[in-house]
Amino acid sequence: MADCIFCSIVAGDIPAKIVHRTESVVAFKDINPQAPLHVQIVPTRHIRDAAALGADDAVVLSEMVAVAKTIATDAGYDPEARGYRLVMNIGPDSLSSVPHLHLHVLAGRTMEWPPG
Ligand code: AMP
Ligand code: ZN
Repeated sequence: MADCIFCSIVAGDIPAKIVHRTESVVAFKDINPQAPLHVQIVPTRHIRDAAALGADDAVVLSEMVAVAKTIATDAGYDPEARGYRLVMNIGPDSLSSVPHLHLHVLAGRTMEWPPG
């Protein structure tokens, strides 16, 4: 999609530190990390956000969650030991800032709850 920063990263038009790529999913380091590990996992196809997902998107959504586990585990934050946090922001109140579906993977510090 034109003028979408994450579509541009997927296409290679904007540089990013890509950590994982498949045909349907790309993962890259967040430019403004909020934890020692902060990765964005995005579908290669433009989907606005999690609220725009349809029944046909079940496979890509489950791949995003599986890739998150692989990345966190490979970085030493496996679920049984330290673990990690997954976040999807939707709409203005969530402070969502990029209108291309992305799954935040955060790990490497003890998180806070409730989130800010
Ligand atoms: P959200 O606020 O949930 O929409 O998250 C957007 C995230 O994208 C933020 O954590 C930003 O730091 C991150 N971000 C924005 N632009 C880039 C970029 N060019 N490369 C990597 N991460 C980015
Ligand atoms: Zn996009």
